[in-house]
Amino acid sequence: MNAPRATPASPLLALPERPRLLVVDDQPINIRALYQMFRTDHEVFATTSGQQALAICQDVAPDLILLDIEMPHMDGLETCRRLKADPATADIPVIFITAQSEPADETRGLNAGAVDFISKPVNPAVVRARVKTHLTLKAQSDLLRSLVFIDGLTGVANRRRFDEALQVEWQRCRRNQLPLTLLMIDIDHFKHYNDRYGHPAGDACLQRVAACLKARLGRAHDLVARYGGEEFACLMPECDLAAGHAKAAELREAVMALAIPHDRSPTAGVITISLGVASRVPDGPDGAAALVQHADAALYTAKHEGRNRVCDVPGESAS
Ligand code: GH3
Ligand code: MG
Ligand code: MG
Repeated sequence: MNAPRATPASPLLALPERPRLLVVDDQPINIRALYQMFRTDHEVFATTSGQQALAICQDVAPDLILLDIEMPHMDGLETCRRLKADPATADIPVIFITAQSEPADETRGLNAGAVDFISKPVNPAVVRARVKTHLTLKAQSDLLRSLVFIDGLTGVANRRRFDEALQVEWQRCRRNQLPLTLLMIDIDHFKHYNDRYGHPAGDACLQRVAACLKARLGRAHDLVARYGGEEFACLMPECDLAAGHAKAAELREAVMALAIPHDRSPTAGVITISLGVASRVPDGPDGAAALVQHADAALYTAKHEGRNRVCDVPGESAS
């Protein structure tokens, strides 16, 4: 009889090459033992206190935490609860490794938010196997979460992600009284392109334009999204109208420089884009929709005035 074959991992599922483990135990001897177990194929961080564990998590974002329960000052249960209460650390799987072994202890640990509970003395093979299982599960749930927010054709953020980011950035810029800029972008004469070169070529064109936009928006909070069909949106927090306009002009030139032939475009012999820019320092809780309308109106003007141009104030084209 053939041995059962392991199911191959999905090609999309990228497990970290050297997963980062955080070991938290007030006894250095226990830290040493776990360090020996994992040091060859994991990056191991360690601390003897819960308080420090919380700080390390903000810093290095471990892929998994091995947490002792009985520790002075802040015990493992409290540490775990605090990790789970903070959105920045809530998704890091926690495994308790502890001298306690009663079912009630285990229940308390799992109720605090841990994914697993292992009693000391530990069997190294069992600990390694469980760590591997939970790292795989974590990678799978990360992948699913990211797929919900990614446009399948172009790989940039989808509309759902854009709508969420717009609300988040609007509130963040409002709190800090910083400008938020939005570019609405539409490919010119794209219907003619599909008609002339075929739908698969149209799809490839969308992918190239998306990659081109993304490559030029590099700041941490910038977001390029496919807004729909052949429309894209770029969200640029902490960026004022002048800087947003300059970026829009750069994007327009970059897409032209791709030199994707479009011999049925009345505008140019290559694929071009029209861009509408809107920018404001958020002044109330509900203005994000108006920002979109404003950028849309500017885009409409850019189209109306001849395409392949940037427009900011609706009615005034600028390049
Ligand atoms: P304009 O310059 O005014 O923007 O003209 P346009 O032809 O680009 O605009 P219109 O809205 O008339 O046509 C958009 C075209 O984009 C029609 C639609 O088939 C095409 N399109 C939308 N989504 C996709 C897609 O995912 N793949 C392909 N290949 N084409 C798409
Ligand atoms: Mg178009
Ligand atoms: Mg369109």
